[in-house]
Amino acid sequence: MIIRNVRILGGELVDIRVADGEIAEIGTGLEGPETVDGGGAIALPGLVDLHTHLREPGREDAETVQTGTQSAARGGYTAVHAMANTSPVADTAGVVEQVWRLGREFAHCDVHPVGAVTVGLEGKQLAELGAMADSAARVRVFSDDGKCVDDAVLMRRALEYVKAFDGVIAQHAQEPRLTAGAQMNEGVISGRLGLTGWPAVAEEAIIARDCLLAAHVGSRLHICHVSTAGSVEIIRWAKSKGWNVTCEVTPHHLLLTDDLVEDSPVGAYNPIYKVNPPLRTRADVEALRAALADGTIDIVATDHAPHPVEDKETEWSAAAMGMVGLETALSVVQEAMVETGLLDWAGVAQRMSVVPARIGRLGGQGQPLEVGAPANITLYDPSARTEVDPSAFASKSRNTPYEGMTLPGRVVATFLRGRATVLEGKLV
Ligand SMILES: [Zn+2]
Repeated sequence: MIIRNVRILGGELVDIRVADGEIAEIGTGLEGPETVDGGGAIALPGLVDLHTHLREPGREDAETVQTGTQSAARGGYTAVHAMANTSPVADTAGVVEQVWRLGREFAHCDVHPVGAVTVGLEGKQLAELGAMADSAARVRVFSDDGKCVDDAVLMRRALEYVKAFDGVIAQHAQEPRLTAGAQMNEGVISGRLGLTGWPAVAEEAIIARDCLLAAHVGSRLHICHVSTAGSVEIIRWAKSKGWNVTCEVTPHHLLLTDDLVEDSPVGAYNPIYKVNPPLRTRADVEALRAALADGTIDIVATDHAPHPVEDKETEWSAAAMGMVGLETALSVVQEAMVETGLLDWAGVAQRMSVVPARIGRLGGQGQPLEVGAPANITLYDPSARTEVDPSAFASKSRNTPYEGMTLPGRVVATFLRGRATVLEGKLV
């Protein structure tokens, strides 16, 4: 098959010949029996998400492996890491293998289960990390995401344990006692609205502690969804020491701010903006963008968190936290980082494909688009303008904060090892 008229990382127009799931040739004027016209689209290595909630097993009303990976493919992803806070929790080899097998069966994108750090996400006892690593799912990323591993001794043991198989602990940094009952960012607006605040220090204190622990035991640490300017400063300091710390930012924390809770196109107190960690201030957003540009923040991860309508369209205090994100991630990154001149397309490819694959230790993903590489390719038209219509999502859930917004760009096609999962913006 020939993929014609594409610009690799925004470069010159070329054609790509794909054979046996790999890139066989890159050139101009390539001919073949089967062709796909890229129409001048940018070709990126297939996107890799380090932080997706697929909700299966247990909350198939919100999302399934099938719909979540369809959503991923439509967003240009060829691999996702499925978070462990399912029901039952993915804390055994049996559950991670179940999720991994479902991913293989539907084959819209690769599914790499994340293993829980502690049994039942309860923060009391380490889960069977070694058995999950040795399972068919070959788990390398472990996280209690949704909850923080707040016991320093358990966190230390987990960091030590995963060294044996080059695993990484991905921490949801939230000091639980500082955030009891927290509803939104602690600041001027939470004070005015009378909502319990989620202070920046609750994130930053855990990040500082865990960077020190990771350095102490010489292990790999990843920080999920960094959301404050102070977190960025701590991670910058840890990296300057040469410590093995990586981190992610979500698209929504690069674009949206806490004042939307008070005043937005969809009114005040609209739970569509309720998310954990919460939307922060404009100064935080600016710091996160600068840190993603200079490499202090390594990657963008979606924290795609589907919720059914009844869990989201309710009063603020009762609503579930989280937003769907797979199908809008690249557009939001274009808006926040590319249109602002902070990143070029090579920079986007690093932060949304190459480096997340490296952190997750995925061999066949996040490879530069070169001859011999697996043909995991995303075609993206940055000149398109799309009004976000949640009813068109492949995701089972609709809880997007971007409904009705016009965002730049459109995923034209996605190829997983040479096989199209999306063509002309539609699932194959
Ligand atoms: Zn989280």
